[in-house]
Amino acid sequence: MRMSDIILKKRQGGRLETSEIEYFVKGCVSGAIPDYQISALLMAIFFSGLDQRETTDLTMFMYKSGDTIDLSGLPGIKVDKHSTGGVGDKTTLILAPLVASAGVTVAKMSGRGLGHTGGTIDKLESIPGFKAELDHGSFIQQVRDIGLAVVTQTGNLVPADKKLYALRDVTATVDNISLIASSVMSKKLASGADAIVLDVKTGRGAFMKNPEEAWELARLMVDIGGNLGRKTVALITPMDQPLGQAVGNALEIRESIDTLRNKGPGDLKKICLYLGAEMLVLAGKAGSNNEAMEILENNLDNGLALAKFAQMIAAQGGNTDIIENTGLLPKASGEAVITAWENGYLTEVDAMGIGLSAMNLGAGRENKESPIDLGAGLILHRKTGDRVTRGEPLVTLYYNSPSRVEKSVLLAKQSFKIGETPPQVFKDSFKRIG
Ligand code: URA
Repeated sequence: MRMSDIILKKRQGGRLETSEIEYFVKGCVSGAIPDYQISALLMAIFFSGLDQRETTDLTMFMYKSGDTIDLSGLPGIKVDKHSTGGVGDKTTLILAPLVASAGVTVAKMSGRGLGHTGGTIDKLESIPGFKAELDHGSFIQQVRDIGLAVVTQTGNLVPADKKLYALRDVTATVDNISLIASSVMSKKLASGADAIVLDVKTGRGAFMKNPEEAWELARLMVDIGGNLGRKTVALITPMDQPLGQAVGNALEIRESIDTLRNKGPGDLKKICLYLGAEMLVLAGKAGSNNEAMEILENNLDNGLALAKFAQMIAAQGGNTDIIENTGLLPKASGEAVITAWENGYLTEVDAMGIGLSAMNLGAGRENKESPIDLGAGLILHRKTGDRVTRGEPLVTLYYNSPSRVEKSVLLAKQSFKIGETPPQVFKDSFKRIG
């Protein structure tokens, strides 16, 4: 087989055989195929596309390109959850203990953040002492002991994705639905869960800016999961404005604790209940989504979800006193408040602008090597649709580096739009695929 023939075939719009896709993925990982030929095929795929069979094949060979996690020795049906990423998205911090408190085994691997969306692991590492890097044996043992662990990736999972993603990033080929779907699903499949719940975000702060694209991506990922033997469900959820009120690592831990006490923001609780219900049903812990939601709501009220979170923090070496005293979390030394400049309704709180403001404060990473400021971030006091009065606080910025404040204030202020009439605010159920 010759790589140049495969590139030509795809450039001319042909369908790649399973054996050709296998040759490509294996050659990417072994180094037998040079970067210029990999990049050329990525560009040909970008323009000519992959059909569902080709995308499934690509996902399968990617997922098998390195280590895979074996969770089969753990009890029950293991359900993983993945979000395509958004600003203020702390759902894993809430969902993992919440569904574990209902008896679902949660063995979750998460990532550090890059860009304007923060990573679950960075957020957890703002808890003093918390260890996210467990070796495989300790990870499995903890899940066996308490039914829950959230850790960084262990082992050499999906090296094909590392190679392909790095080249996509520098060849303008990231935003292709087949390449995104195979990248996401290969990592989920290698992580070993029996079933997968996907939270596909759409809107200004999301990868997929419009709902049709989000739906197409979700449909493809659900089909790939099914084709490769993992029951997969996706919800399409809005990411025009940040989720909840807190954006920033320690600030999001605080908001997650409030939510686990059933005292969190309504939009955040809603998404956790919907995603959690899908997880409970897939795990066979509830017969219907309504029954599952009732179980989850009870566990927010009766303290079981928060107790499970505390158990996980303790098992991973963190200081559980932060639950009663969030003042023990990393703090910022300065605050800046932006107030409403006129009376009216908030017609927009742009997630992307708020995310960029938070990143500039140090809450996110511009590149892999950037240090992260765990105490920095923003708290939104008002959200889209709220009535506001001139002079009232819209958002508070928390910072440790005064030199970053001016730009962040500007970015945050530009994210708010005030108008005379109330805007349409999303209040419906989420679109579901699965
Ligand atoms: N997230 C991923 O993991 N891969 C992509 O290609 C895009 C988003």
